[in-house]
Amino acid sequence: MQIPPDSGAPWVAVVGGGPAGLLAAQHLAEAGCRVTVYEAQATVGRKFLVAGHGGFNLTNSEPLEVFANRYAVRRPEFTRYLQHFSAADLRTWAEQLGIGTFVGTSGRVFPTDEHKPAQLLRAWLARLQTLGVALKTRHRWLGFAGEGLRIRDEATGQETVVRPAATLLALGGASWIKTGSDGSWTAALQAIGVETVPFMPSNCGAEVAWSAFFREKVGRQPLKNIALQCGSLVVRGELMLTDYGLEGTPVYALTPALREALAAGPPATLLLNLKPDLTEAQLIEKLVRRRAGKSLASFLGEALKLGPPTPTLLREVGPPQLPTTAPELAYLLTHLPLPVAGLRPLDEAISTAGGIAWPEVNEHLMLRRRPGVFVAGEMLDWEAPTGGYLLQGCFSTGAWAARGILQRVTE
Ligand SMILES: Cc1cc2nc3c(=O)[nH]c(=O)nc-3n(C[C@H](O)[C@H](O)[C@H](O)COP(=O)(O)OP(=O)(O)OC[C@H]3O[C@@H](n4cnc5c(N)ncnc54)[C@H](O)[C@@H]3O)c2cc1C
Repeated sequence: MQIPPDSGAPWVAVVGGGPAGLLAAQHLAEAGCRVTVYEAQATVGRKFLVAGHGGFNLTNSEPLEVFANRYAVRRPEFTRYLQHFSAADLRTWAEQLGIGTFVGTSGRVFPTDEHKPAQLLRAWLARLQTLGVALKTRHRWLGFAGEGLRIRDEATGQETVVRPAATLLALGGASWIKTGSDGSWTAALQAIGVETVPFMPSNCGAEVAWSAFFREKVGRQPLKNIALQCGSLVVRGELMLTDYGLEGTPVYALTPALREALAAGPPATLLLNLKPDLTEAQLIEKLVRRRAGKSLASFLGEALKLGPPTPTLLREVGPPQLPTTAPELAYLLTHLPLPVAGLRPLDEAISTAGGIAWPEVNEHLMLRRRPGVFVAGEMLDWEAPTGGYLLQGCFSTGAWAARGILQRVTE
């Protein structure tokens, strides 16, 4: 259905052309609203495409009760959003755009191999065009002007004030600035009294002050099938040793715990278990077989498949004299302390914690201080691990805000 501009249908402005904004635009247009998307960059969906460069993880196949727990701090709210637009809905949505999906071994949901993220975005934009959604790229929202929105055409520098029936702000977090998510919107919201929580890196690497010898010898190397612990939290996966510290899913998942530990005073200690599939007794049983004269490095490689870079890592972070007894060595191999000096910079983070404080929005995700203005996506103060939870969180809050807008404009 294409809505003619003079149809009398309510007009809604969506500011920010990321997944949260574009899904809301689609839902609103499908429900009969006239929709204009204002996007500061020359193209929409830049971070969505960046997400596609790694494993493009659209959502996750976990059941709702487990899924909602990934948004630990706002569990009840996220349960509602996920019920309204679930992981299954997301898959159906992709399929309706001609993009098949599959569940990987980890439960993560990906587009099928033949479908690239750019194809999904192209098909989505074509759908929005068919629905009559007006896309105004290079149009930056500058803030509020009375009841209206100040919009600057970045190409001409011309400023206008528009007065839609309702507005959705979906301006993203504050990482990967080159994609357009620069977090500069906080000033405009603070100007009307909206409280924001400072942005913090989430799902990011950690810094370890390796010796020059270690950096040169190890460089960038993976440690597969390990477990990493911070406090009482343990995460399995693959760790990447880099010249500045650590990357990889287990570190990303531990970012909130690491942040907390670092706030108490750096360094924060991560405990690395290099053999999480073996019990302590099994490990000791293998270690006692070491013959006198056999170097530790070659023994670890042969008996435990702990070849390079493990021996170098043991010397780097282990005690000056490595243990000689099997139980002591087993303990070290399963509790290797990695001293984290800090988190990597905000701009490198996959996502950001912080943003609009929750008490500022009502149950429809409308700003209490600005009736008619709704918010969705990463600009709200939530965080979740990688694994499809980020995009799903953005889609679900976008859909939920669109629902609130519809109720308001059709009242
Ligand atoms: C490297 C990387 C890999 C990722 N991989 C995954 C993954 O596999 N799975 C997953 O679930 N998530 C992944 N993510 C996270 C996911 O991409 C983001 O959480 C998601 O894109 C956020 O959506 P959003 O709509 O809230 O904001 P964004 O996608 O950030 O979009 C916000 C938009 O608002 C625009 N904007 C900002 N200010 C203004 C303004 N003043 N006026 C007009 N427009 C403005 C921006 O230009 C931008 O286009 C990844 C992220 C990164 C960086």
